[in-house]
Amino acid sequence: MANNLGLTVKPVTPTTPEEEARVAAWIDTAEYREKNFARQALVINPVHACQPLGAELAAHGFEGTLPFVHGSQGCASYYRSTLNRHFREPAPAVSDSMTEDGAVFGGQANLHEGLENALALYKPKMIAVFTSCMPEIIGDDLTAFLKNARTKGIVPKELPVPFANTPSFSGTHTAGYDAMLLAILQTLTEGKRVEGRCTGKLNFIAGFDANTGNYREYRRIFEAFGVPATLLADISESFDSPNDGTYRPYPGGTPLLEAADSINGKATLTVQPYATAKTYAWLKDSYAGRHAALPMPIGIGRTDAFLMKVAELFDKPVPDALRAERGRAVDAMTDAQQYMHGKKFAVYGDPDPLLGHVAFLLEMGASPRHVLCSKGSKKLEKELQALLDGSPYGAGCSVHMNRDLWHMRSLLMTDPVDAMIGDTHGKFAARDAKIPLFRFGFPVFDRVNKHRAPIIGYQGVINMVTEICNKFLDVRDETCEERFFEMMR
Ligand code: SF4
Repeated sequence: MANNLGLTVKPVTPTTPEEEARVAAWIDTAEYREKNFARQALVINPVHACQPLGAELAAHGFEGTLPFVHGSQGCASYYRSTLNRHFREPAPAVSDSMTEDGAVFGGQANLHEGLENALALYKPKMIAVFTSCMPEIIGDDLTAFLKNARTKGIVPKELPVPFANTPSFSGTHTAGYDAMLLAILQTLTEGKRVEGRCTGKLNFIAGFDANTGNYREYRRIFEAFGVPATLLADISESFDSPNDGTYRPYPGGTPLLEAADSINGKATLTVQPYATAKTYAWLKDSYAGRHAALPMPIGIGRTDAFLMKVAELFDKPVPDALRAERGRAVDAMTDAQQYMHGKKFAVYGDPDPLLGHVAFLLEMGASPRHVLCSKGSKKLEKELQALLDGSPYGAGCSVHMNRDLWHMRSLLMTDPVDAMIGDTHGKFAARDAKIPLFRFGFPVFDRVNKHRAPIIGYQGVINMVTEICNKFLDVRDETCEERFFEMMR
């Protein structure tokens, strides 16, 4: 065996081609699947990122905010590069680069020096601090460290510095998002609740949503209603700003004054109850007005519920323009149903979009055969199962909690499906199973502009139906005999 320099390499353990072929065939069997599902101490290709990545996304959603990682430089590079590769935009964030001495003596010196440098160099309006694993393992006390930073005059009195503990050995990026969003809202709204004041606005929380097109779509829907809205943690500009030759370190984001006044809103709505559980539990008791937590509006039924809730909260009818859009979405589904009806799918991802994708597939008469979440809960499992049980197309489908994409591969090889829905990491399993992967999840590294095409609302239904059905038609055109070409005969 020669390496790429032409040098002969002697394998440590020689494996014959016959043995390689035997193992390659064996990992596709039901026997291997059983062993794979008995696996306990190893995760292979998980469907989640670590908590601080979610915290960074939330921080980018606020005006002039610098995400600040208290912890290792390498970890910070991982979150930044993941966001950077997904959006193909810069993800400006800093780290206090804890190393061995920080791990031994604690990270206060790193934090203080890092804050000083960050303020001098990047002049943020807010610094959002969150942690990587290392300071969490050694038990760094962020409350005390930041109090000391203020006492020493390192941090100006008026500068908001919300912080969140985001230990990555528990939870996922969605938990980190939730923790950081909660900390930011608690910090900005402190002392801002005014009895009798009402902004007349809807506070809207999209949750961990890395599709900038979705944010623009939500805003368009609220404008159609004539409902003034504050999008909290609004990343639509932060990660989709115009390329006009000028670099702006903090494009877009929810204005800080508006976020502070959100506590006096007329109503507050979250559409990712799993990714905003702690934030929502807090604001229900702290925010004025009415509150609602709805499923992500993916598919017709969930979009209907979303629009009716906005109509109810603001006592306004659903606008005719949105009613017409619904009709067009239903028409698009009807025109395309023959290409999706009865098709089997494997679906994986974060709880909120996962529920939405399953609901959408059932509406199309498709079968979400394997549904997988890498950090699920009993509650999510029950909700998914109830969704499947509520449709004839859910029969024979199974839900897999706390499994990874190597488990998914075993499912695909032993119980084949027609396609997958998820993020880029599923492409290995999809290629082995020779099926298309529809990239509606996070992150998407290997396709362009996916984050600009909304998948929520009626327009999202049209976008998903179009992408999925046209791909099935492509596959057919590439593989069928000419007499079966799709010509609408
Ligand atoms: S899991 Fe922990 S060590 Fe790994 S990148 Fe995330 S924060 Fe860093």
